[in-house]
Parts: sequence; C-alpha cells; structure tokens
Amino acid sequence: MRAFSLLVTMLVAGLLNAGESTPTKIGAERPSWLKGNIHTHSFWSDGNQFPEMIASWYKQQGYDFLALSDHNILSKGEKWMPISTLKSRGGNDILDKYLDAYGKDWVLTRGEGDKLEVRLRTLEEFRVGLEKDGDFLMVQSEEISDRSQGVPVHMNATNIQELIAPVGGPTVREAMANNLRAVAEQARKTGKPIVLHLNHPNFGYAVTAEDLAAVVQERFVEIYNGHPGVNVLGDDEHASVEKIWDIVNTIRLAQLFAPPLFGVGTDDSHHYHGRGTSRPGRSWIMVRGDELDADVITEKITRGDFYSSSGVKLIDVVYNSKKQKLELLIDEQVGVTYTTKFIGTTTSADLSSKEKKTANGKTVTRIYSEDVGAVLATVPGIQPTYQFKGDELYVRAVVTSTKPHVDPTLPKQTEQAWTQPVGWSVSQRRSR
Ligand SMILES: [Zn+2]
Ligand SMILES: [Zn+2]
Repeated sequence: MRAFSLLVTMLVAGLLNAGESTPTKIGAERPSWLKGNIHTHSFWSDGNQFPEMIASWYKQQGYDFLALSDHNILSKGEKWMPISTLKSRGGNDILDKYLDAYGKDWVLTRGEGDKLEVRLRTLEEFRVGLEKDGDFLMVQSEEISDRSQGVPVHMNATNIQELIAPVGGPTVREAMANNLRAVAEQARKTGKPIVLHLNHPNFGYAVTAEDLAAVVQERFVEIYNGHPGVNVLGDDEHASVEKIWDIVNTIRLAQLFAPPLFGVGTDDSHHYHGRGTSRPGRSWIMVRGDELDADVITEKITRGDFYSSSGVKLIDVVYNSKKQKLELLIDEQVGVTYTTKFIGTTTSADLSSKEKKTANGKTVTRIYSEDVGAVLATVPGIQPTYQFKGDELYVRAVVTSTKPHVDPTLPKQTEQAWTQPVGWSVSQRRSR
C-alpha cells in the first residue's frame, strides 16, 4: 500500500492543490495534515468536564490542535465552580478524577463540604503542560452565541484574541453580518487572522440557505456537527445541512458573484464521561501542513486548504485548474471500500425555487430542483477523479466508506470525508 501510495502521490505531483485562490504545487512527498477540532465546550460554559481534561483526551486521541469554544466566554480570568454544579454535570466522582489526573498542587479549591468551590484553570495556565513537547496546540476560541428573530445564531471565532460579546441585530442576516464585522475589526486591530464559521444552521432551523447565501462575508459553515440535536439531515420541511451548503454555493456563484462556503466538520462536544449525547471524537478538520501555529492554521482554513472528516482519511486532494481535474487519494483501510460522489451545480441548472410553508403557514424554507447540488459522478475506489466538462459552477467531493462511524449520530452512519468546492471563479463570471 505504501509503495502504491507513493507512486500515486508522485503521479499527481506537480498538479495544483484544492486551494482555489492561491494554488501551490504539491511535492512528491506525501503531504502532512494537522487534525483538529474547533468546536468544543467545557466547564467554562455548558460542558461537563475541566478544560485540561478535555484537551488531554484530544491529545491522547492523536489530534494536533484543539479550540475550546465556550459560549460567550474565553478561558480567562477567575471562575469558581460550586462542587454541586460540578457533580450534577460531571458525576459525583468528578473532583476525584480531576485530582487523580492532575494532583493536589494543580487543583485549586476553596471552602469545604457542600460549600467547596473549584477554580477553573485558564487557557494560559493549562496550555503550558499540553504544548510543552511541541506536539499539540491549543487555539483560543469563543462560540459567539447570539439570537435574532427568536432563533439561535451561533458563530465560532477560531483564533480570537479578545472576547466579543454577541452584537445582535434585528434579523438573522444582520446579526450574522454584525458579528462578522466585529470579528474583522478585531483581526485588523490585532493583526491576527480569525475564522468565524456559522455553526449548526439547522439547530432550531435558525439559519436558512437564503440567509447564509446573502451574508457573503461568511465563508464557512458546519456541514457536519456531532451534537445529535442539530438536525444535520433536516426534515420534511427543511433541507439537510449538506444541501444547504450546495444551495448557498449555487446562489452565490450563479446570482451574487460571490465566493462559496467552505465546509467544516466539528464535534460541538459537551459530554465527556461516556454518558450524555454530545460526545467528542465524531468529526474534525484536517488542515494541510505541519506547522503547529495558530495563525498559520487559521490562514490555511481561511484559504480553504483543509478537508472535513468523520473518519475517512485522505492522503491528498488536488485540484488542477489547468486540466480542470479534481483528484483524491484515499488512505485505504483493510476491508473497507470507498465511494466518492462528486457534487456540484452546472450553469444550465434549473435554479428556480418554491416557497415551503409549515402547517401554520410560516415560510420555513425554499425547495430547489435536484439540479442544485446534483451528483455529477459516483466513483468507487481509492483514487477517484473528476474531469470538469466546463459548465460547472463548482464541484466538491464527498467520500463515504463502508466502515461504521465510531459514535454515530445519524441512521446507519458510516465514515466520511468532505472536500471543499473547487473549479469556481467569481471574477470570471462577473465579467461575462
Ligand atoms: Zn451552538
Ligand atoms: Zn457549541
């Protein structure tokens, strides 16, 4: 397998990678990828575990980086948690497990008995131990948890430097745009890149494809989130999150001459003791490169130089813009087979849509023809390739394996990987 992989990697050497705007040549070497989760909750907000316990779990599982993204708070300053709250969320042995792992010198308490309180360690404090060997990185983050028009508008700010309180707005679209503006201002002020991705659009069916298409400053959306309550597959009245991704990309490229969204897979984990429903380890991103630096990783995400996964590993993904060819190389596991769907929308697609109302007459979504986000090709094997015909607005790939997902949230869920849309061009279409 290794010799074969090397040969294939050599064959695709010299092609351009999936990054649309700044393509770089890949070498003959097998490229490096950094594995990370950028949506995680701890005791700093509504998670049920101490932050350093969570981070060391991810580190032990082979992740390279982790962003703790608590609701409207950074892991910073003094926060004391009553023992009753810790126990009710994390179980009666929560403090014993923490003491076993970190010892009395690390665990800070005050008071006694029922009045005992534990101080949460800050990111600045606990990152030292996790990062000291140079093989793991903590990235500061916040889930800016806003509301508008009675629904949640949650956006994760990866590599944020200072807290941003939810800005709000009279509509979902304005709330999104306002938070994007606040983040862009901080990035300008600090000189540090920040990725602000829209979380779980179908949580409370809060954000429609049309909302997301209209706010063109937003370039990222969660296309799989491991929290079982966020309606990844939609329902009779709402598109799935993956379909929303395609609707948005189609509207933007065909009608708004704006760049498409990149798709992010995350855990949105809250529960860490084997109980509870929102557990870690279900989905992550793989960022190209080997430099464990928060700014570098954030820049790579900004350029779309990453893929999302719920188990399937790619050796490489390459888009050759000259040959208009998208090529994947899958890291094959013994006894597992792979099917890749190349999904996209063509310029001749029927883009009309019909309003869909709920039983009480409220417009909930619009229904599009099957041309939007159509399956353009289905290819078996570990080196699927798509040759563009010339009329595609964009094409993306989703790989589905036969291996059952390690901790499924969807019926009959197997491991998958999602690559970013390629073959699109905003400036070209504008000039037509
Ligand atoms: Zn959320
Ligand atoms: Zn969350």
